[in-house]
Amino acid sequence: MDFQAFMGIEIIIDTGAGSCSGVSRAIQFAEDILDKEKELTCLGDLIHNEAEIVRLKDKGLNSIGHCQIVEQSEKKLLFCAHGEPPSTYRIANAFEVKIIDATCPIVKRLQKRVAKESARMQKVNGQLLLYGDLNHAEMIGLKAYSNYKTYILRDPADLETINTAKPTVFISQTTKFQSDYSQLIAAFKKKRKADQTEQFPLKIVNSVCKKMAKRDIQLKLFLKNIDLLLFVSDPKSSNGNGLFKIAKSKLPNSFFITSPTDLKKIWFKSGQKVGISGAATTPIWLLQETAIHLKKMLLE
Ligand code: SF4
Repeated sequence: MDFQAFMGIEIIIDTGAGSCSGVSRAIQFAEDILDKEKELTCLGDLIHNEAEIVRLKDKGLNSIGHCQIVEQSEKKLLFCAHGEPPSTYRIANAFEVKIIDATCPIVKRLQKRVAKESARMQKVNGQLLLYGDLNHAEMIGLKAYSNYKTYILRDPADLETINTAKPTVFISQTTKFQSDYSQLIAAFKKKRKADQTEQFPLKIVNSVCKKMAKRDIQLKLFLKNIDLLLFVSDPKSSNGNGLFKIAKSKLPNSFFITSPTDLKKIWFKSGQKVGISGAATTPIWLLQETAIHLKKMLLE
């Protein structure tokens, strides 16, 4: 019997979900090598998604931390999409590591931009404000390309300690939402007005990745058409955590799962429209597998 007719449940996969091009490209780099060589070492997590990591591990991918780079001397080492600081390249080159650089081209360009803007700010006694997550690989990398006053802001509350009486450049982590970045800038402008420092030059770099920029809006639209959301992500994905927070506030009937086996039959009721979505690091195959698992579970 068709489960949909049986349970009267409709399953819809969010067409805006799935890995971003930078992460997909890095996975492709890894798979091309694994197909030929059956083993490859990656620096850190290639992707913040446990299920995808397990799949790639089965194909021969293993990962090491930065302190183990020296052990890769004369061997291949894959750098992930979020990029690495200059020091990582220096160490790897010093030990003749064969770097497979899967840094997303957009992140590469942004690293150069950070270096350029920081040099410019140094000349005018200004500052560089980076919006993002302190411990995110991309932010650690970006900050390292600046050699002048650079501060990481996680949200408007962090503006409290920022001096507005300086030329300022704003740059955002690529995986942030445009709406949150705009909110932070609006708060900074408000502070400038209150501090009477609006005469100091202010430059906003639109560095939020296009794939991410409207992802929150897309998800909100998707939520309007469903009764229950299965959000597939990994707790380590900052983009996933941000999107799930939005989903939960708009649709309390939202569940965060890391794998299809997390599904519980008691969540579902006949006649529901069930949506499946995920983070920028959630591969499409995992969303599809969740749909298949759900169908099977409803038939049991
Ligand atoms: S979010 Fe955009 S910039 Fe960041 S890795 Fe993915 S494609 Fe590249």
